[in-house]
Amino acid sequence: MSELKGWKDIPIGGVIAEGGTAYDYETGSWRSFRPVHDEEKCIDCLDCWFCCPDGAILVKDKKFEGFDLEHCKGCGICEAVCPPKVHAITMKPESEFNG
Ligand code: SF4
Ligand code: SF4
Repeated sequence: MSELKGWKDIPIGGVIAEGGTAYDYETGSWRSFRPVHDEEKCIDCLDCWFCCPDGAILVKDKKFEGFDLEHCKGCGICEAVCPPKVHAITMKPESEFNG
């Protein structure tokens, strides 16, 4: 039975040179459903902003501003966390927007 190699003898593999961020990738191209916002219903609680995994909820002056569709991957979490009595976000099939 051969001896195990020490760490100095093992070839260098992958190197993670810096922290990753989803912002570097256009995750919006993954989307099959698109969130649609109803400004009349929104109470600007920003639960959607807090929970969006891709930072795709845009906020201005502490109010909901819109979606960053280059990074929104259409997961629907924003719709799920929007207070049920408010329901200001609805996921719609992407096909409704692109023919
Ligand atoms: S669907 Fe909503 S929670 Fe999901 S990535 Fe898009 S904006 Fe964020
Ligand atoms: S979770 Fe709903 S009510 Fe709250 S800011 Fe987002 S869209 Fe508006």
